[in-house]
Amino acid sequence: MSTTAVSANESAAEYSNPIFKELDFPQDPNNLYHQTVETMLHAADIIDLKHRVKIILAQPKNEVMVHFPVRMDDGHHRLFKGYRVQHNNALGPYKGGIRFHHDVHLDDVKSLALLMTMKCSLVRVPFGGGKGGVKVNPREHSAREMERITRRFCSAIMNIIGPEYDIPAPDVGTSAQNMAWFADTYMMSNEGKAANDGLRVVTGKPVEFGGSLGRTKATGQGVVDTLVELLPEVGLETKGMRVSLLGYGNVGSWAGRILHDMDAKIVAVADHTGAIRDDKGLDAHRLAEHCEKHGGVAGFAGDAITTDEFYQTQVDVLIPAALEQMITDREAAMINAKIIAEGANAPCTPEGDRVLSERGIEVIPAILANAGGVAVSYFEWVQNKTSSYWDIEQVDRELNRHMVMAARRTVVARQKYGVDLRTAAYIAALDHIGKAYSVRGIFP
Ligand code: GLU
Repeated sequence: MSTTAVSANESAAEYSNPIFKELDFPQDPNNLYHQTVETMLHAADIIDLKHRVKIILAQPKNEVMVHFPVRMDDGHHRLFKGYRVQHNNALGPYKGGIRFHHDVHLDDVKSLALLMTMKCSLVRVPFGGGKGGVKVNPREHSAREMERITRRFCSAIMNIIGPEYDIPAPDVGTSAQNMAWFADTYMMSNEGKAANDGLRVVTGKPVEFGGSLGRTKATGQGVVDTLVELLPEVGLETKGMRVSLLGYGNVGSWAGRILHDMDAKIVAVADHTGAIRDDKGLDAHRLAEHCEKHGGVAGFAGDAITTDEFYQTQVDVLIPAALEQMITDREAAMINAKIIAEGANAPCTPEGDRVLSERGIEVIPAILANAGGVAVSYFEWVQNKTSSYWDIEQVDRELNRHMVMAARRTVVARQKYGVDLRTAAYIAALDHIGKAYSVRGIFP
């Protein structure tokens, strides 16, 4: 074979979309950012999204990387690496969480920021997408060290965020407490008559300090709201429905508890400490208390099982609520569920997705299923802006309305274009952003 023929073949295999070639993307099909852009471009091609919008959305607007020293309890200093990626702000200020995890990289943060742009557009909250992260293992640090890391990271990115510009929130490894330290640092550093305005620089704060009722459970609640709306599509109802959960942190434990209270049966749960199963159903509330105390599900009631046995457990619904890329083709081949609701961001790889689709397993994509968190973040931001408090009924009602409408938009797109739910959700999100770009135009 001639050299030219080889390179022509290679380039055809390498560039699954011409935009990748045009933007000189490093080609790595296992890279999460590559996968996320590929999914987005696939949907964009179906609706013939304008070329200029495709190239804008294929790369974040701004990517910031910072390094900052923090004093440890024993007096020595450690240097940390942090990121803030601002993907897109066509629909409103950049919005998205801050992740504290020992294995966070720029490309992960870029992917998660892109997903935020899609999510906010799909559930129609007037925000764009962003994401941040610090490479740190919160389990290895005292509360005092975590406070200093949070405050110093806030100060490192302070110039590029703001209550009308870029609004962080909790994500994996961060909580309302981190947001309180973050907001306090921002407000103290911007003292003056408008200091209080700084409260809105982050959402997901404690209720005592500008947080919204219902924000802590919001992502889990949104997973359930979406699921309830789409269950008839697969001929299921919540009563007696068998559920397994991968991950029992904020999202998994709230989805589990809410479903438990709706008479669903939580039959298997897995996390980084192990996996458990009980055919009669696990007590989701007591399991949440156990995890709080012992750091994971291991040692709770039921039978201890392997991760493979967890995936093989026969259920109606599997909710992956841990990290990205956990369901590859290997796990997908073992899964014994009718429908998957993605509580985590990007838990299925494209290969995993392909196997699930071949096996007829429906997937409710993350940009729809887990958008409840950012929806209530938006409500919190509105409450702060208008100096008001919503009661929990109002929060739950508005959240449900946003989730149900987003689910319907997705189903309409699926019917119109004859695609899977993931592509349909991207189509519904991209169509909205595309229209905003059409009327705004491109400056200058
Ligand atoms: N980190 C959450 C997510 O991935 C919430 C983001 C927010 O509330 O801004 O959706």
